[in-house]
Amino acid sequence: MVVVLKNEATTQQINNLISWFEEQKVAVHISKGEYQTLLGLVGNTTNIDTDLIEGLEIVECVKRISDPFKNANRKFHPDDTVVDCSGVKIGGGEFAIIAGPCSVESEAQLLEIATKVNASGATLLRGGAFKPRTSPYDFQGLKAEGLELLLEAKEKTGMPIVTEIMNANHLPLFENVDVIQVGARNMQNFELLKELGKTDKPILLKRGLANTLKELLMSAEYIMAGGNEKIILCERGIRTFETYTRNTLDLSAVPMLKELTHLPIVIDPSHACGVAKLVKPMAMAAAAAGADGLMIEVHNDPPRALCDGPQSLTPEQFDDVAKRVFAIREAVKSLD
Ligand code: PEP
Ligand code: MN
Repeated sequence: MVVVLKNEATTQQINNLISWFEEQKVAVHISKGEYQTLLGLVGNTTNIDTDLIEGLEIVECVKRISDPFKNANRKFHPDDTVVDCSGVKIGGGEFAIIAGPCSVESEAQLLEIATKVNASGATLLRGGAFKPRTSPYDFQGLKAEGLELLLEAKEKTGMPIVTEIMNANHLPLFENVDVIQVGARNMQNFELLKELGKTDKPILLKRGLANTLKELLMSAEYIMAGGNEKIILCERGIRTFETYTRNTLDLSAVPMLKELTHLPIVIDPSHACGVAKLVKPMAMAAAAAGADGLMIEVHNDPPRALCDGPQSLTPEQFDDVAKRVFAIREAVKSLD
């Protein structure tokens, strides 16, 4: 339920109303916009009499929200959320490119890629230390050592780091990680999501291979229900009958999610296509569609990459993509 307050409502009156709602055992989410203040009620609101609330002097109107996601809902929070990733902002007009290798492989590999992508305009460094692989015989990542190398690269380049967590027991190792990634395979690992809800780290939440946008938003809701509202959604392609590409990039997710939620949306064209040459056109299309950022895999030697070489760009290719993406952003802004 959303309660829209009148402009003249005083802080004292608003606080009295919030206390009353809390006595009814519903949590209140306050959204103070430029023009309006909204109270979003989360919990069992069936016993709350909307006519009674609407009759209050300070209330403009009351709307029931039928969507099962409440905290993530744009109706609760009309303004875009801007997620601050240790100084790099995403959302609300702030655009960021996250780039780096699929997996951290060595100090030399990571530092070379980090320095080059940073020089091309990437502002966040990605790299997997714990890798979710389809085969147990494939490279599983450097684990804790990979995290150490990411922290070293962060120190040397100044870029905040994004890396995937697979097990909540690993959280102590992620203390200095700037953005924790939840991979597609863990989008509905609800116990993991609940633990992340107790942290105050930005979470990059990837859409599952076969999940709907509503399910993605419900997963975000799990994290938000625990108190962590710093979520960046990521569309990384879904499974379809198409076989020329690894997945199918659902670019309509960008405008659809923009309508449904206030959370920022990032596109990962690398996992969506699985083919390096498709990354450039899809990254440009994502920028044109209004994505808040991109996540792109870059490797200094793609044929020898230990994971996802076929979809990885060389630093030179990434430089070209980044230039085009920034030019598209400028062109789109000039039309607004
Ligand atoms: C990744 O980002 O390296 C990754 C494993 O992505 P996804 O979870 O989207 O497959
Ligand atoms: Mn990958």
